Amino acid sequence: MKCIRCENEMKKVNLLTFGGFQIESETKSIFETPETSGVEVFVCNKCGHIELKAKDFRKF
Ligand SMILES: [Zn+2]
Repeated sequence: MKCIRCENEMKKVNLLTFGGFQIESETKSIFETPETSGVEVFVCNKCGHIELKAKDFRKF
């Protein structure tokens, strides 16, 4: 993945949080099951820009 700021090739890294983290769609009622996805994190080692990308983005 290219950095949007300086076009350097970004490195895939792990964001360290307790128990990992995911994104989840908002639901309108408690009967709806939200869609969830893991998140990939990339860092540019030239300018420090960090980018997040959903692993399963198509289901949103
Ligand atoms: Zn950069």
